[in-house]
Formats: sequence, C-alpha cells, structure tokens
Amino acid sequence: MPGPSPVRPKVEACPLCGGRELRWIVTVGPHPVVRCQACGLQFTNPQPADAELAAIYGPDYILPLRGPEGEALISRSKRATADRYLDLLAATGAPASGRLLEVGCGQGDFLRQASQRGFDVTGVEYSPFACQRARHTLGGKGRVIQGEIDAVASEAGTYDICALCDVIEHVRDPAAFLRSAFALLRPGGVVFVVTPSIDSWSARLLGRRWMEFKEEHLFYYRPATIERQLTLAGFTDCSLHRGVKLLSLEYVAAHFEKYPIPGLTGGLRLLRALSPAALRQKLFPLVASGLVAVARKPATN
Ligand SMILES: [Zn+2]
Repeated sequence: MPGPSPVRPKVEACPLCGGRELRWIVTVGPHPVVRCQACGLQFTNPQPADAELAAIYGPDYILPLRGPEGEALISRSKRATADRYLDLLAATGAPASGRLLEVGCGQGDFLRQASQRGFDVTGVEYSPFACQRARHTLGGKGRVIQGEIDAVASEAGTYDICALCDVIEHVRDPAAFLRSAFALLRPGGVVFVVTPSIDSWSARLLGRRWMEFKEEHLFYYRPATIERQLTLAGFTDCSLHRGVKLLSLEYVAAHFEKYPIPGLTGGLRLLRALSPAALRQKLFPLVASGLVAVARKPATN
C-alpha cells in the first residue's frame, strides 16, 4: 500500500467565497498562509501534504505534559473547560439532554462532562490512541468510534447537539465537514464550534508569532467568517462568544515550550520556576485565542 501523499494541495480560490485575490500573511514552517481579500478568511496555501500531517498527528499530539501527573493536569483543565462550554450551550437554549456527538473528541474529557449531565454521548476520533483513552475516560458510558465524521453518516438526523471543539481549523474542507455535521443533526439541533480567532487579543498582540499559527492549522477564522461558513452549510441563528478556557500556569508554560515564542516562552519558564506548586496548578479562566460559535439547524415546519 502506498504511504500518505507527499503532494501539497493547492487552493486556487477562497473555499468560503470563491475570491481569487489571496494575499500572503505569514509562513508557518514551510507553509504560506494567505488571506482572501474579499471575505477575510485566512488559510494555508498550498495545504500541507497528507504525509506532513500524518507526521504531526502522532500518539503524543496535544500532550504538552507527559507522565500521569501531567496528563491528570491536562484532564482537569479540559474538564473544567468542557463544563464552561456546556454551561454556554445551556445558556444559548440548546437542548439540555438527548444525543450529543463530538467529532474530534480527543481523549474524551468533553464527552465525559456531557455524559455526567445526562447526555447520551458519541465521540468520533481519528487517532486510535486517543480513542482508546477516550473509552477509558468515559468508563463504559457512551460510544467512541475511530474514524472521521463520515463514520456516523448512517445516523443522519438523529443528534441533538454536534460539538466541534478545536477541529474545524484542522480539516481540509470545512464546507463539506459542516454539511456533514448539519446532516447528522435533527431539525432544531445545535452545532457548537470552537476555533482560534484571528480577531483575538493574542493574535493582535503576537502578530506573526501568534501561537495558533501551527503547521496543522489549515484555516483561520474570525467571527464574521465562521458565521458565513456556518450559514453556507445551512445553519441559522448563529451566536458568537469568546472562547474561555480553564488553564493552569503549568499547562500554559508547557504549551509554549512545545510551541516556542521568543520572550514569552522564557518569561513563562521563569514565572513557573518562581511559583509554588499549588499556584502553578491552579486553573484560571483565560480568553486566549479562541471563539465559540453556536448555530441551529432550522426546525421543519
Ligand atoms: Zn473569501
């Protein structure tokens, strides 16, 4: 069997509006990022090859802290963040029970919190390693399916909520991805999207050194472009929110060791060294770089 393709797919026109005036913004590793001058969507162009992405998504992906203690710290942070997300969903009038699907469920912390609130949860996850961990996290509740969003295509129209946390910026075709999510929801069902925002304070402050400029991020949204992308897929009633995450100094410092930013990484290392353990591990709500969009599949009359 041939390995993953070494070809970097070139995007000729903006996938959101069809615009052809694409201006270079920054180069991330070997990959140029461009901005569509018509709609403001930013994306990697050409996109990284399958082979390049496969090399990035190894078993250690998204684990800046190793060992049982580090993993426990990450889980605590992810569960606290998941609770915020679930509170936000509830506040927007989303169904408070029923079937919840998360695509890109990682190690299952969001699903676990949703399950504890009474949702019947299903996770889809590309990484077999993360799937295993997610099943363990869920302790026998719900389902975790290895694959991509199409793995649950046969369950079209059955989900009350579809959560896409930090995943849309990773897919090659966000329009097709959101159409799949739309099809999976029942009429009146809700999609919940978390993604980095180029309008966030960290993006403005750090410019070309923004920590979300990563080789595996293919699309960079802002509120206006994510709303347009959701509308294009058929969603309505889009509401936009700041993406609050619960993070500890330990986690943030480790993140910037993995994705170094001159000045910031060293400063955090120093701050971490000067802080007592309890403070290093305390969770703080931080609006760092993300946005949250909540939208609805129209109810049938
Ligand atoms: Zn465009």
